[in-house]
Amino acid sequence: MEIKTCPFCGGRACLNSNYSYKTRSYFVFVKCNVCNAQSKPYYSPDEPEKVGWKNDSCNDAIEAWNLRADEKSYTVYD
Ligand SMILES: [Zn+2]
Repeated sequence: MEIKTCPFCGGRACLNSNYSYKTRSYFVFVKCNVCNAQSKPYYSPDEPEKVGWKNDSCNDAIEAWNLRADEKSYTVYD
């Protein structure tokens, strides 16, 4: 799935992941390389990098990001 450019700065965005030691699980989200805007994090049962960033969680994160990319008036949070 294609990741749209950042709705805030037009920069390139890509998938990132975090490991939560608290919940012992991975979270995947799309983050802008330029302004650090990011999508909602999605729980991932597998380490996203190990599955080549291709699982439902990655798709969900990209979809969420792409929706926001269409919404020009969206305000940056965090
Ligand atoms: Zn940006």
